[in-house]
Amino acid sequence: MAHADSLTPDPAGARHGLEAARAAMADVFGFTAFRPGQGEIIAAALAGRDLLAVMPTGRGKSLCYQLPALLGRGLTVVVSPLIALMRDQVGALQANGVEAAALTSVDTPAEREQTWTKLDAGALKLLYLAPERLAVPGLADRLRRAGLARIAVDEAHCVSQWGHDFRPDYLRIAEFADAAGRPQMLAFTATADAAARRDIAQRLFTGDALEFVAGFDRPNLHLAVAARRGSGQILDFVRARKGRSGIIYCASRKACEDTAARLRAQDIDALAYHAGLDGAVRAERQDRFVKGEAVVMCATVAFGMGVDKPDVRFVAHAGLPKSMEAYYQEIGRAGRDGEPADTLLLWSLGDAALRRRQIADSDAHEARKQVELRRLGALIAYCEAPRCRRQTLLSYFGEATEPCGTCDLCDDPPALIDGTVIAQKAMSAIARTGQRFGLEHLIAVLRGVETEKVRARAHQNLPTFGVGADLSKDQWMSVFRQLFAAGAIDQPIDGHGEWRLTDAGKAVLFGKDTLQLRPPEDRRAARAVRAGPARDLKDQLSERDQALFNALKALRADLARQSGKPAYTVFSDRTLIEMALARPATPGEMAGVFGVGARKLERYGALFLETIAQAVRITRPEYRLHGELRIGAAASLRLA
Ligand code: ADP
Ligand code: ZN
Repeated sequence: MAHADSLTPDPAGARHGLEAARAAMADVFGFTAFRPGQGEIIAAALAGRDLLAVMPTGRGKSLCYQLPALLGRGLTVVVSPLIALMRDQVGALQANGVEAAALTSVDTPAEREQTWTKLDAGALKLLYLAPERLAVPGLADRLRRAGLARIAVDEAHCVSQWGHDFRPDYLRIAEFADAAGRPQMLAFTATADAAARRDIAQRLFTGDALEFVAGFDRPNLHLAVAARRGSGQILDFVRARKGRSGIIYCASRKACEDTAARLRAQDIDALAYHAGLDGAVRAERQDRFVKGEAVVMCATVAFGMGVDKPDVRFVAHAGLPKSMEAYYQEIGRAGRDGEPADTLLLWSLGDAALRRRQIADSDAHEARKQVELRRLGALIAYCEAPRCRRQTLLSYFGEATEPCGTCDLCDDPPALIDGTVIAQKAMSAIARTGQRFGLEHLIAVLRGVETEKVRARAHQNLPTFGVGADLSKDQWMSVFRQLFAAGAIDQPIDGHGEWRLTDAGKAVLFGKDTLQLRPPEDRRAARAVRAGPARDLKDQLSERDQALFNALKALRADLARQSGKPAYTVFSDRTLIEMALARPATPGEMAGVFGVGARKLERYGALFLETIAQAVRITRPEYRLHGELRIGAAASLRLA
């Protein structure tokens, strides 16, 4: 596959096409500029190339096939794995005045007939297709006759058996494309390393295709990690973000229920979501989350795939995620609208021990287990990173960056100390007790606490006994976490929670190497949680603007209720905020506001202009000067 950057600049035709795409984007979607990567991909698509694009979640993949679909000739079929997501997208497109429909297994006969009428009349620009539909006999041929010009494959990694989300139905795409006369093929995914990309290309493309890999960075996400100390941290974190939507990933069904109950007791609209709930209940709760403005979902990882909510303001993990990949994907559900959002990961060494057990007990091959263990190691190293969190995260995905300025470690860089002596104490406790004990006992030995277990083994007589009385239990936990992250100690995969020394650890213990540590105290845990929410656009609103923003939100809520659609399909928060700041007075000015396309202007413009005009009448200083009469008149107007 050719790499996009090795390509000579496109002919003038594509550049011209890109200008048209920019205009269509402003007109239909109300967006002012392409996000990084979008322009190049859209230009290549408009030039008729087959392509595979890897872009992080929330960066705006959909636009990369929607604009070519709008501007190009013929029909674009979008293969997408999740029916719910598909319906959301179709709804959002229709709200913007784009002729789109879906063919899925849950359509009513009437819906299906309507779709086919439009297809046969050539009235549709985009047709979303569930992958299982690809097998319907004759469908490819019928769509070819309806003018099928390109296929866009969403979540293209599902075609790769090496990927983490293989879907057998995706293997039918190539066959379907052949039967449909090999239209242009556009493939998109958020996760594909080089091997997976090769695999996808082989399965989807016949000739030469372009590959685009946009960076993994999501600069609007604030990253923070802390040691877990009970459930209070999550409650504090959510309380500091009251009035915003968020997801709390919990380790078990029970933890989901408990966390949700505690939040509800704090007057926060929290729901539990896990595989133990009835399907209808889950669907109803997901719907409430998506449509709501401040619902907190306490969920297992069963939740999130296909939930397309742009204004999720925070994602917290109450325990260690499964892997860096899973973590990246899960935090990626925050801030898809590009506005600031917060993340918090809470973990303990117990979580890591549990994961090890699970890996050991799985029936995977030995080689696979070793890979899983290395991946776990990378995750722990991230949790205990000594420098910028984002640098550590991105370097895992093979990307280098400068310190980011929006993570807990950049906010408050830890001063590193020479931790050699402390490390030697901890590791000598491990060595002197025969590498057979877990943390509880090791810390008792270090702190000189004569527990029953200590006495039973006469460990009070060890030279290490009590050498670490100057540090608290928490501080020793922090030391052990850091030693583990640094690869100085580990636990045998088939063991029972006992710690042992690695070669790197022995080198430090015997004075052949030194080790830098963060000061072993855990103020950071408390601080990361106490910190308030990320500053977002809303904070720019003065009190006066805020009142208007609230009025616009109320209007949006009314309109959403009337149509049964999520509020953000009317206008996003960002659009309302910009309206409150810019206060457009004419349809022309309204069209210039971010997120206001032609269709929405036509449908909602007058109502929003009226609300703005009312607010302006009430608060404009020159009117105030005229005294109470006018203010009273305007206010009563609003009440009417
Ligand atoms: P992805 O599929 O990559 O996860 P989406 O296509 O769902 O992301 O886009 C995420 C959000 O970003 C959507 O709300 C979308 O409308 C918005 N978006 C996409 N492109 C732009 C742009 N150029 N300017 C502003 N918002 C955009
Ligand atoms: Zn940073």
